[in-house]
Amino acid sequence: MTDSVAVVGGGAVGVTAARELAARGADVTLFERGDIASESTGRAAGICYDAFAGRTDAAVAARAMNRFRELAAETRFSFRERPYVWLARDGDERKAEAIREQVPRMRERGRNVDLLDAADLRAEFPTLATDDVAVAAVAWDAACADPAEYAAVVAERAADAGATIRTDTEVGVTSDPAVVTSDGTVDFDAVLVAAGAHARPLLAEAGVAVPIKAYRVQALVTEPIPGGEGLPTLYDASGEFYVRPRDGGVLVGDGVERRDFDPDDWDRTADDAFVEGALERIDVSLAPDVDRPDGFDRAWAGLCTATPDRDPLVGEVEPELFVAAGWHGHGFMRAPALGRTVAGEILGDDGIAAFDPTRFDGDEQFPVVEGMTVE
Ligand SMILES: Cc1cc2nc3c(=O)[nH]c(=O)nc-3n(C[C@H](O)[C@H](O)[C@H](O)COP(=O)(O)OP(=O)(O)OC[C@H]3O[C@@H](n4cnc5c(N)ncnc54)[C@H](O)[C@@H]3O)c2cc1C
Repeated sequence: MTDSVAVVGGGAVGVTAARELAARGADVTLFERGDIASESTGRAAGICYDAFAGRTDAAVAARAMNRFRELAAETRFSFRERPYVWLARDGDERKAEAIREQVPRMRERGRNVDLLDAADLRAEFPTLATDDVAVAAVAWDAACADPAEYAAVVAERAADAGATIRTDTEVGVTSDPAVVTSDGTVDFDAVLVAAGAHARPLLAEAGVAVPIKAYRVQALVTEPIPGGEGLPTLYDASGEFYVRPRDGGVLVGDGVERRDFDPDDWDRTADDAFVEGALERIDVSLAPDVDRPDGFDRAWAGLCTATPDRDPLVGEVEPELFVAAGWHGHGFMRAPALGRTVAGEILGDDGIAAFDPTRFDGDEQFPVVEGMTVE
């Protein structure tokens, strides 16, 4: 029996794992160097869906969606059901073909997704620009949430279940396993590194190499527009950006920089070019009769994490030292499932073989591929 567990990181994944561990009787301490959700989780767009073609991904997503709904029924957490549309525009036959090919595979996995032509899309979603759409798909089992709210609610539940939550506490880890605080080294029966973009440097301190790259992405929320809350979530595969309703306006995500960033040295403010481009992207996404926003309310950058095979690293890397990271921009929507999975592994349950972090040597060279891509 694992008695004492340290969870390093108070993002969506760390708080989920901490809550599960505490609920199952472990003595849990969560260490977060800032506030809960102060890194990627607090910067995420909060788009959730189950539209995955792979068996494991589809099953994980279905579990996560169920957990989100249960949490929304039990707490103040708000989970707004909202279809997720993705599409390719005329002239982008490669991505159009990829969408046509992936939708039947998602349906084989039991996902509630449909392929739509431009006319179907216009009929279903009259607020979207559809004239130059080559093909679209819609996932009906999809929603939007506030990731920071999720993390706050789950951290409270973890504390209610007996976990100690230590914010403003930066720690190091060793392979003993132990956690190194400013007051000294504390041994634990198990340590989970759920430190997002910091997972690689943190594990490197413990002598463990994991192939995780941190890449920079950007987002912006516009001022409110009439009918803004009624928009679906949209991923434009040809333009490689997404939009979702947020606070009565539109959230746009794009500005991906596909290179490895130092998680302690990157620009957290959005680039001017991204901001200008984002307003144009809204313009091309909306039907002509939908009001455009006058300007934007806020814009920011954040880090996502990539792995060589685009699957996350979830499991044990050294005896009783665990990692959960490498989400390719899908870490929030999968946190309710995979945070629990890694907690279960710590307590002796089976993990997910495809996500076993020891499948890599740790020194792999690989390009960063953004997670929403249809190819
Ligand atoms: C702009 C943007 C939009 C996104 N949109 C979506 C989306 O729509 N849907 C989706 O599913 N995902 C989205 N993502 C991805 C999502 O944010 C992440 O995959 C997810 O939040 C990862 O959660 P996490 O708990 O692993 O990491 P994080 O939220 O980064 O949490 C890790 C925590 O560890 C802490 N930490 C690090 N080092 C230490 C240390 N030494 N000691 C103590 N604490 C430490 C950090 O402070 C941080 O709070 C988006 C990301 C960005 C940036």
